[in-house]
Amino acid sequence: MGYTSLAGELQSLIRGSVQTNEPMKKHTTWRIGGNADLFVDPGDKEDVRRVVEFVEKNDIPLTVIGNGSNLLVKDGGIRGVVLKVGRGLAGISVEGTTIKAGAGTMLPELAAAARRAGVGGFEFAAGIPGSLGGAIVMNAGAVNGCVADVLHSIEVLNEHNRFVTLNKEELGFAYRTSNLQGKPVICVSTLWQGYVKDRGLIEQETRDYLLKRKAAQPQGYPNAGSVFKNPAGDYAGRLIEACGGKGLRVGDAQVSTKHANWILNLGNATARDVLTLIEKIRKMVQDRFGVDLHLEVRVLGED
Ligand SMILES: Cc1cc2nc3c(=O)[nH]c(=O)nc-3n(C[C@H](O)[C@H](O)[C@H](O)COP(=O)(O)OP(=O)(O)OC[C@H]3O[C@@H](n4cnc5c(N)ncnc54)[C@H](O)[C@@H]3O)c2cc1C
Repeated sequence: MGYTSLAGELQSLIRGSVQTNEPMKKHTTWRIGGNADLFVDPGDKEDVRRVVEFVEKNDIPLTVIGNGSNLLVKDGGIRGVVLKVGRGLAGISVEGTTIKAGAGTMLPELAAAARRAGVGGFEFAAGIPGSLGGAIVMNAGAVNGCVADVLHSIEVLNEHNRFVTLNKEELGFAYRTSNLQGKPVICVSTLWQGYVKDRGLIEQETRDYLLKRKAAQPQGYPNAGSVFKNPAGDYAGRLIEACGGKGLRVGDAQVSTKHANWILNLGNATARDVLTLIEKIRKMVQDRFGVDLHLEVRVLGED
């Protein structure tokens, strides 16, 4: 069956939307990536379950994304279905110091809800452009905290197509990783536990933190934040800069001159450009310091 008729069938089963041949560059902050055969924006968590049933029945590969802010999608695009956990699964409610939010909610929205309610612990989330689902998979964080510090539990659709709750302790959190990476589970909702904190203080700290981030981070070109994880006891950016990597360019992909761990898309960068640049950087750092840099960004799709 062709993708157009599969799209029609899938559309008749769900509330959300189904697109064929959808450019992934529209769904990644790097603005890079070939087309997804089918792209689904689910309307709610039941849609997520129906999509999984559908791909299993039709033996189609499934890829889950959030806001695409930590993704490099290759130029050949993604075969099968891309499921974006986004606005259809967004929404926040605060009760005391407990916050419940859909996995499609954005981190800055979580930070804002906590701030308004005088709940501390979420300040780190203010400047990170990821969905809660993606943030949990990546254990996103910054100098002032990370997901693992304040997450209580999540609801996922598991490999048996059932909604189950997983507690924080079951998620194997470590620096910018969790054991959800590569697992066939989809996060649909999240529960967080903060603590009472003065609202004015949260506001002040958040303002200072966002100003510092703005000053340190490159502005103006599409990117995916830090490309490499920091090696133990050091900074990937420092190592790359010390090798003379700042400003290094392949096609339209360039190592930022402001922050050497960021690669910018100057206009029409391809995934091939970025991957070639990544390999050059890795080799430079390996040759000079004997350090093997590991990717923080997740690479998806085909050449
Ligand atoms: C300007 C900028 C600044 C950034 N700053 C930071 C920072 O300070 N700290 C930091 O940690 N990161 C930072 N990042 C990286 C990125 O924002 C985070 O990693 C973010 O948490 C990724 O969320 P996402 O929704 O975009 O996930 P995506 O990039 O869409 O996906 C990331 C991974 O999660 C999986 N995934 C996504 N949603 C789900 C779900 N619902 N269920 C199951 N799997 C899912 C995907 O398959 C993929 O493997 C930055 C990025 C940018 C562009």
